[in-house]
Amino acid sequence: MQNEEQARLAALDRYDILDTPQEEAFDRITRLIRRIFDVPMSTISLIDAHRQWFKARSGVEACETARGPALCNIALREPRCLVVPDTAADPRFSANPFVLGPPLIRFYAGVPLRTPQGVAIGTLCALDTRPRDFRPDEVETLIDLSHVVMRELELRRVATTDGLTGALSRQAFREACAGALALALRHGQPLACLMLDLDHFKAVNDGYGHPVGDRVLAEVAAACRERLRGSDAFGRLGGEEFAVLLPQTGHAAALAVAETLRAAIANLRVPIPGGTLRLTASFGVAALAAGATEVHGPDVDGLLASADAALYAAKAAGRNRCVAGGPRPSSGAGARRVLKAGLLSFDDGRAGLDCTVRSLSEAGAALNVVDARDVPETFRLSIRDDRFSRRCRIALRRDGHLDVAFV
Ligand code: GH3
Ligand code: MG
Ligand code: MG
Repeated sequence: MQNEEQARLAALDRYDILDTPQEEAFDRITRLIRRIFDVPMSTISLIDAHRQWFKARSGVEACETARGPALCNIALREPRCLVVPDTAADPRFSANPFVLGPPLIRFYAGVPLRTPQGVAIGTLCALDTRPRDFRPDEVETLIDLSHVVMRELELRRVATTDGLTGALSRQAFREACAGALALALRHGQPLACLMLDLDHFKAVNDGYGHPVGDRVLAEVAAACRERLRGSDAFGRLGGEEFAVLLPQTGHAAALAVAETLRAAIANLRVPIPGGTLRLTASFGVAALAAGATEVHGPDVDGLLASADAALYAAKAAGRNRCVAGGPRPSSGAGARRVLKAGLLSFDDGRAGLDCTVRSLSEAGAALNVVDARDVPETFRLSIRDDRFSRRCRIALRRDGHLDVAFV
């Protein structure tokens, strides 16, 4: 059981798929499922340590839910397919909050999504608010579609460049970052990272169609690459979000590069039928702190998280701007990346909340929970597998993310 959990989290990490933007290739599959089986809802659900997260969803509002009550969490262990014709008549599910409350699941069919090594990482499912049957040939169709999902994930994993923009794939960009970061830390050299996200890009797709959106993405990528050095790495992290790695570049110079790219994008004129389209992007900048070393320095996730936090600030401040971030509290001394299922307990142990522990150091940890707003300032964090238990105080709280210091 514990091995299964570790194997699943490691596989999800290899695909690097959690919290990536919606993608047409996956959305198309959930739309197909609704049409083929005539059901109102379908999801591609991935099971993280503390939540189920939907890579694609059709007819479902939430983008993630707690893991505990998720039906997909049970379907994950099925050899082929879990079919529940009527959840109200099945004692395993009749009291389930997703059956009694929204989205009022009465029918469930879910096929585990398995890696080529046989590790189940989530499920592909068809859901209905009314009871119904699911014929054997329908099970086969759902299984076939689960292979299509896994093939898409595998293609993304092995790709080094993104077909549309020519940018490095997310995985390849992270690898380039890891190499450059290790070198910079060992030799005490500067290094910076930019993250950029197009502003209100959804409006481009909605207003002019997806193909125009695609052309805009390709033009933005070309405009950025033109202005970078050969030694810089340019990657597409997902959707309309890109990142640039700037070796041998300090904070001020990185901010200047971001400003150059921001102006270049703002000056683009993309031809569309009957006119031209203009757009803007927001930038977050992160640079290694002076004196960062292999022991006292961020890992790739820490560096990208700093740039992402700055990007978030740039969006919040009104978009079309560059914001430089500072180092984040938990990416300090000797933080190592871990992926473990943890438990937060508070109110003298009367309340508990599942979490995923993303990194650990002597001084603190980085955690993900479904809703960080519900968590009090201090609590106890335990990792059952490791007999680990420490009292924590929150240092930073954002969306589903918590940085905590041990007290
Ligand atoms: P914000 O300023 O907050 O970033 O707003 P936004 O509209 O850019 O952000 P949001 O994340 O809501 O929308 C991103 C959109 O990007 C939604 C998605 O359909 C679109 N998108 C993602 N990947 C692609 C792609 O490959 N091609 C096209 N055409 N659109 C894409
Ligand atoms: Mg955007
Ligand atoms: Mg985005």
